[in-house]
Amino acid sequence: MNTRRLIVVGGGPAGLMAAGQAAGLGVKTLVLEKMDRPGRKLRITGKGRCNLTNAASLEDFLAHYGDNGRFLRQAFARFFSQDLTAFIGGLGITVKTERGGRVFTEEGAPELAVRLTEWAGRQGVSVRTGSRVTAIHHIDRAVTGVRILSSDGDAEDSEAACVILAAGGASYPATGSAGDGYRLAKALGHDIVSPGPALVPVETEGNTAVRLQGLSLRNVVLKVLCDGRVQAEAFGEMLFTHFGVSGPIVLSLSKVIGRCLKKKDSVILSIDLKPALDENRLDERLRRELDLHGKRSLQNMLKTLLPSALIPVCLDALRLDPHKPGHQITAEERTRLRAWLKNMELKVLRTRPMAEAIVTAGGISLHQVDPRTMASRVVSGLYFAGEVLDLDGDTGGFNLQAAFSTGWLAGRSAARWLTDQVKG
Ligand SMILES: Cc1cc2nc3c(=O)[nH]c(=O)nc-3n(C[C@H](O)[C@H](O)[C@H](O)COP(=O)(O)OP(=O)(O)OC[C@H]3O[C@@H](n4cnc5c(N)ncnc54)[C@H](O)[C@@H]3O)c2cc1C
Repeated sequence: MNTRRLIVVGGGPAGLMAAGQAAGLGVKTLVLEKMDRPGRKLRITGKGRCNLTNAASLEDFLAHYGDNGRFLRQAFARFFSQDLTAFIGGLGITVKTERGGRVFTEEGAPELAVRLTEWAGRQGVSVRTGSRVTAIHHIDRAVTGVRILSSDGDAEDSEAACVILAAGGASYPATGSAGDGYRLAKALGHDIVSPGPALVPVETEGNTAVRLQGLSLRNVVLKVLCDGRVQAEAFGEMLFTHFGVSGPIVLSLSKVIGRCLKKKDSVILSIDLKPALDENRLDERLRRELDLHGKRSLQNMLKTLLPSALIPVCLDALRLDPHKPGHQITAEERTRLRAWLKNMELKVLRTRPMAEAIVTAGGISLHQVDPRTMASRVVSGLYFAGEVLDLDGDTGGFNLQAAFSTGWLAGRSAARWLTDQVKG
């Protein structure tokens, strides 16, 4: 057996980082990538601008992965956001920090993918594209190599004492990550937390979304109600589309929505259009507007409170006459108007499919992975990195940081392990 060789399955950000780190420590490293070139998903990140990481502090950062964030503490202790920006700075890529601490690359995502691949090459990594790994071989729970299916349909076995599985999740399958990593790990005895879409738009019932298509709401609070109970809420920006809703706060809440839908609960999205005003202050504001502009029609008066596109939707929902003058609005009508502004409801039909999700929730169970090294606790010589793990973060650069940090740690740990094996 080739006792010195490391094979990395997948040439995404996690795999390339892992491979480059291992090769830099003197290990003969081969990346097997099933697509025609590495980093296809990386190239489309951040709408081509690549939201690489986030300026948040460590504790804040970890909170963006939900309960599983704890698993990343050790990887982040070794390689965190400042290390990542310094690393890509070394590749000649500069960054810019924007709203919400989002760190973007100036040169763009495709350029980062090119420079990362070139860097791996300079470290001594060989990258073989058009090579899909269909099995990881082992004897007595120790890795011995992989089976490769080439794009021409030829199958071959390749020996390696160590394998890093960095095959990504199952979203945007056209980029190459189509759930292979889960099947490969499961075949070796790893538990897989059922994969589902995360950071995904949501389809809603009725024609409200179509009527509001293209409208973006800023500074609203969005709540997710399952069978009438609030499950989660977020403040920020959302967007109406031809099928429903999208935008940062919808994507962030989509995992909770998906979970509620799985339980067959009735899921309602409640939008507070005026979160800065409590019920009393909003009532005062409405009274003031109605007093000041009593002669104006209701639809005109509402222009001071709502974007134009929302006005007919609001008046239809409340069955109010748009031409009614402000001074004729009754107390009961004002109360209903206030309630609607604090609670505009949309019934959720479903989340959009996995193919449209930014990341996959679920994946290789973290219970069987050592967070200090990314090593499998089931098979020796097997390591993991990136989205293939049961880790998913919010939008804002959290997913790429997790991929790069776990890749860095897996690559270095695997190299040390291989070196120790050879010495031993
Ligand atoms: C549209 C979009 C925009 C995004 N924007 C951002 C953003 O701005 N910021 C952010 O933090 N995150 C973003 N993400 C998420 C981020 O891209 C992923 O979390 C990240 O790419 C995961 O890295 P990875 O290396 O683990 O997996 P991937 O990037 O998916 O790479 C896995 C690689 O493995 C290969 N592979 C799969 N199976 C096999 C096999 N059997 N054999 C050989 N090779 C295989 C695949 O072809 C692929 O190249 C975005 C995602 C999408 C879809």
